[in-house]
Amino acid sequence: MFDKILLAVDGSEHALHAARTAADLARSMKTSEIRIVTAYDFIPPYLGEPNMQYAIDARMESAKTIMQKAVHAVGDVPCEIHTELIEGPAAEAIIDVASTRKSNVIVMGSRGLGTLAGLLLGSTSQKVVAHAPCPVLIVR
Ligand code: ATP
Ligand code: MG
Repeated sequence: MFDKILLAVDGSEHALHAARTAADLARSMKTSEIRIVTAYDFIPPYLGEPNMQYAIDARMESAKTIMQKAVHAVGDVPCEIHTELIEGPAAEAIIDVASTRKSNVIVMGSRGLGTLAGLLLGSTSQKVVAHAPCPVLIVR
């Protein structure tokens, strides 16, 4: 049923918790792949060179670190792990990957790195729940 899992991560504790849940799901279902997605902000071209390249490199480095921690949190699973670093708005990136890769479920945290206290569901989760092409598992 959950053959292909898309796991969305942003470097938050919530997302790492979602990663452990995605791994549990993969171990208990006949899952063939977990695809981990992290989206990083678009770099505006008006920064100019060499600042633009510095900014791109810094974003890529932090996205790679986020991904490494997520892969570590997933741990040993009896399926393939794929990773995708995508430039652009997170919800759109997650929905695009879920559509293109025909994911069966999206696993994500209820909150992320946002600091607004009292918010039950972050804006990325809200958008994904509203527009996803498949079931969404929001981990609390
Ligand atoms: P907000 O961003 O609205 O201030 P928030 O950061 O607390 O609120 P969300 O951004 O909705 O909440 O994060 C909820 C979940 O969405 C995260 O736990 C993570 O699974 C996923 N997510 C958030 N940002 C990204 C991102 N840039 N790339 C991939 N997944 C993300
Ligand atoms: Mg956020």
